[in-house]
Amino acid sequence: MSMNPFETSQATLHTAAKIAGIDEDAVRFLEQPKRIFKFTIPMKMDNGELRFFEAYRVHYNDALGQVKNGLRFVPDLDLDIVKALGLWMTIKHAVGGIPAGGGKGGVKVDPRTLSEDEYERLCRAYIRNLPMKGAWVDVPGADIGTSGKTMAWMLDELESIQQFHQPAAINDKPVATNGTQLSMEATGTGVFFVTREVMKDMSMGKDSKIVIQGFGNVGRTAALLFHEAGFKVVAIGDIKNAIHNENGIDIPALVEHVKKTGFVEGFADTESMTNAELLELPCDILIPAAVQSVLNADNADRIKAKLVMEAANGPTTPEAEEILQAKGITIVPDVLTNCGSAIVCSFERTQGLTDDYWTVEKVTEKLEERITNAYFATRDTAKKYGTSLRNGAWINALTKIANSMKARGWY
Ligand code: NAD
Repeated sequence: MSMNPFETSQATLHTAAKIAGIDEDAVRFLEQPKRIFKFTIPMKMDNGELRFFEAYRVHYNDALGQVKNGLRFVPDLDLDIVKALGLWMTIKHAVGGIPAGGGKGGVKVDPRTLSEDEYERLCRAYIRNLPMKGAWVDVPGADIGTSGKTMAWMLDELESIQQFHQPAAINDKPVATNGTQLSMEATGTGVFFVTREVMKDMSMGKDSKIVIQGFGNVGRTAALLFHEAGFKVVAIGDIKNAIHNENGIDIPALVEHVKKTGFVEGFADTESMTNAELLELPCDILIPAAVQSVLNADNADRIKAKLVMEAANGPTTPEAEEILQAKGITIVPDVLTNCGSAIVCSFERTQGLTDDYWTVEKVTEKLEERITNAYFATRDTAKKYGTSLRNGAWINALTKIANSMKARGWY
């Protein structure tokens, strides 16, 4: 039977901790969240009906700093998912050298069923009901079902009830409300920076064939950067279908095509294929940038890439990872590959705290430095312990968190 997300995150925790001999008491702290808030938001709908929404916030671990990030407004939200994502954020922040703990939360709702007014009232009510909030305790950000727009409503509500400005208390807000440059492009940009460094280490040249699943925020941004830098993206997929051209795809033109048609399908000079075929194409670098578990026990045997860059969260199941590793395929884990947005959110908070707002060039330069250093540290630790990059990243994170908890006298 496959593991639920929380069980998967716990399995990685225990594997990495065992390899590096992390103190057992430190591991016990990370087997459960520090705080779980579950609350109900009553709301009168536009038609007068009274509805009750289930809401969560988990502060998984705050040894390294205030907890931050991720509010998910989705219909299938449950505590197991929020806990798993809380632990992943804790690890991601530590991997990215970010002075923050991990938080996650949200509301069990399908925002598409709400009117714009109901959506705004629900966002404002979430922040009002959130028990602990502010730049030094808990800084919520966007995730699935939330966006810059919702974070601006939440910022406004928080500042209204607390009666002072606090741009550092909410992340992923628009630049117009003292957000940061590169907010939307941070993850894809980080994927590009890390991939470039891994390629150098694996002696992969610009003629390497790159395949990307997902042409949304992350996949599109990374594809554009690869194209601009002269790399060759040979295939791209989205929720509907995939396209392929062995000589490379004109990404800026594809962006225009998708703006017009909604999908990659039908783009000039490309052949159409299914998502299953896309993942199994002979290529050098495969970048899953869409959804979880696309590399699984059913297809892992047929994956031909030399390098998998996990831009999506959890695209490789533990069973697939074993198979891919046995085939000698390098996997760069999600907590490193896609930590760009976590890093830029940390920059957003710093800018809010100092009221000094940076240019896009400065944010990009600082992101490049931070994420490439995170890759170097991961690579060196993986080498030291003779283990995978996933374990290397988790070992670095666990060591930092354990050292802080020890110094604080928690164990
Ligand atoms: P998005 O919604 O902007 O784009 C998703 C893309 O994936 C779209 O092209 C969509 O058509 C495609 N897609 C959706 N379902 C698919 C399926 N079943 N098969 C194939 N393609 C499918 O999302 P995004 O922001 O680009 O995020 C992509 C992934 O990266 C997600 O796993 C997300 O959790 C992860 N991630 C995103 C960020 C961020 O800052 N946006 C940060 C960390 C991790």
